[in-house]
Amino acid sequence: MRVISCIVTEHNLWLVLLAALMCVTGCWVTIGLLDRARKTVGMQMRGWLFLTAVAAGSSIWCTHFIAMLAYQPGAPITFDPALTMISLVIAMVGTGAGFGLALDKSRGLAPEWGGCLVGLAICAMHYTGMIAYHVAGIVEWDARYVVASLLIAMAFSAVAIGQAERRPYRWSHYLGIGLLVLAIVGLHFTAMAAVAVTPLSFITTGTNPDILEAMAVAVAVVGLIVAATGFASYLIDERGRLESFERLQHLALNDALTGLANRVSFNDRLDHEIERAREGGAMTAVIVIDLDRFKEINDLRGHAAGDQALKIIARRLAKLTGDGEFVARLGGDEFAAIKQFKDQNELLGLVSRLEKSLFEPLLLDDFETVTGASIGVAVYPRDGADRERLVSNADLAMYRAKNDVARAVCFYESAMDETARARRALATDLRQAIERGELTLHYQVQTSVSTGATCGYEALLRWTHPVHGMIPPAEFIPIAEENGSILAIGEWVLRTACRQAASWDKGHKIAVNLSPVQLAHADLAKLVHQILVETGLSPRRLELELTESTIVADKVRTLHVLRQIKALGVTIAIDDFGTGYSSLDTLRSFPFDKIKLDRSFMADVERSPQAKAIIRAVLTLGRSLDIPVLAEGVETHVQLTILQVEGCNEAQGYFLGRPKPIDQILLTGAAAHSLAEIDLSAA
Ligand code: C2E
Ligand code: MG
Ligand code: MG
Repeated sequence: MRVISCIVTEHNLWLVLLAALMCVTGCWVTIGLLDRARKTVGMQMRGWLFLTAVAAGSSIWCTHFIAMLAYQPGAPITFDPALTMISLVIAMVGTGAGFGLALDKSRGLAPEWGGCLVGLAICAMHYTGMIAYHVAGIVEWDARYVVASLLIAMAFSAVAIGQAERRPYRWSHYLGIGLLVLAIVGLHFTAMAAVAVTPLSFITTGTNPDILEAMAVAVAVVGLIVAATGFASYLIDERGRLESFERLQHLALNDALTGLANRVSFNDRLDHEIERAREGGAMTAVIVIDLDRFKEINDLRGHAAGDQALKIIARRLAKLTGDGEFVARLGGDEFAAIKQFKDQNELLGLVSRLEKSLFEPLLLDDFETVTGASIGVAVYPRDGADRERLVSNADLAMYRAKNDVARAVCFYESAMDETARARRALATDLRQAIERGELTLHYQVQTSVSTGATCGYEALLRWTHPVHGMIPPAEFIPIAEENGSILAIGEWVLRTACRQAASWDKGHKIAVNLSPVQLAHADLAKLVHQILVETGLSPRRLELELTESTIVADKVRTLHVLRQIKALGVTIAIDDFGTGYSSLDTLRSFPFDKIKLDRSFMADVERSPQAKAIIRAVLTLGRSLDIPVLAEGVETHVQLTILQVEGCNEAQGYFLGRPKPIDQILLTGAAAHSLAEIDLSAA
């Protein structure tokens, strides 16, 4: 009697199904793990390869073992334990070697060759298992089926691994799993068809069928546990990878300090919003925000306080944005918002919320400050059709707001373009002005009103632009203050003025103007000291002029720096007095050495009794505080006479001498002096 293995009866049906489940699960896990091994290198790859081999070997072996238990040869059976275990080792080591070869990226047909080796390992496992399978009967082998089984296993495995590795189609992964299942199943059934058993009727003892079934279940459970372990490690790794991907993505799209969206996400979002507005006929606003006094916090309180301020501001901005509104930090102290709207009032609502929040005080440790901000708005499609244009126009509007003391918010207007472009070009040129030797100092005489004697000279900066010619300081100093080049320029002015003054025979004083930005700079006192030592100018001959707004910006610190400078023996004058804040508190808070009365009063003094009254009041104030007063902008003889009558100490103005280059001062200093004396005696 010839017994064929594929007979399925009621008794063994569930075992066959169990084997099939084992086979499919095993192949699914194997191809998944192989995929992970493929994506890694080095030790990681070897680790995944090991897991793949264990999962593949054990599940193929389990499939085979359960199928063998389902096999009903019609005669009692037993298993050789040693050979059975060897067949398991062959399955693991053999498939491991095959997968290892398949992952060798340096060989062109490595996946297919590796697949063949896997097929060979399955066969070796199967036939070793068959040798371990002892049946009480005469066993005959059909060589043709054996060869066929070998070819089937190798061919299907080769294509299966080729698909899994190369993935030419979208479904290749699943195709690989299916083909590997077919390789195992095909091998099993063909190999079993090669066997014919003629039971020996006189031998009736063998393993009890119940025990065989129990074994099958135990093997299946262990096999599934191994497969599940492989799958679990795959899942854990997948989750880890996903999390690190999400973390990286968050880092790439968000600002590390504040957690707000960064420039990359801002650009993406703006492109998207413009597209949406284009399709829906809506408008999209780009709002660029630049903090006004952030640099000061950084300079005066340190970077930790600066970071803290940025975080608080970012939190406030994030909180105030509603649906369809988006805020980002573009870098440094620059933020931006996007809003899609149909009605202008919606936009105005957001802008005023932004403005209000940016002008709220910030509490940094024990110190309270308000950074304030300049806000520029440009709207699609009116102010630009694409992202670059909109952002650049919103920037222009923001710069306009920055230069306008009265306004924090500016909407883009096309007229801004030209001015702003010219201003930016000047800013770029200004950075190189020192190296190119385009800066010079002119000196304007300061004269004693009572004697007409020269008291000193004020150094006034001049920039000769290679194309635009002479540019007045009122135009370029604000630009230099904005882009920080005032620090280098201010240092140059101080050094040059001190050096030139040191070379004069007559020991006149030299007055140098200071910018608030220079005062905010921590080392001003040290710089002044260093320059005095370097140039050999006596500190008593140097006078520094600063305006009231400089002091008001950060009173405590400014006064501290001024005291340090004064301690060097340098005198301090308050410039343009009567404009700006004009708070008497300023005069009380620091012992100024001179009050320079703004030239606007002089211009009006001949026709305006009010201007004259103010001059008189300031002179009285100066006398009572024992601070000499210098009147700026004296252009006429009458003005000088008034000053003399009112008892002003010093005067400066075109009438007494225009600002002149150093060589002219040295030549004509005496002439100006005597001119003043003649005028005075005539008065
Ligand atoms: P300031 O310090 O008040 O300088 C006096 C300004 O009044 C000078 O203008 C001077 O040329 C002008 N002036 C002098 N006498 C008369 C007059 O009789 N009539 C009229 N209408 N004007 C007169 P300038 O040189 O254009 O400088 C303007 C401002 O630029 C200065 O005002 C000062 O605030 C600033 N500045 C000039 N040089 C420097 C500098 O080296 N550093 C800094 N930070 N600022 C400077
Ligand atoms: Mg001045
Ligand atoms: Mg002045």
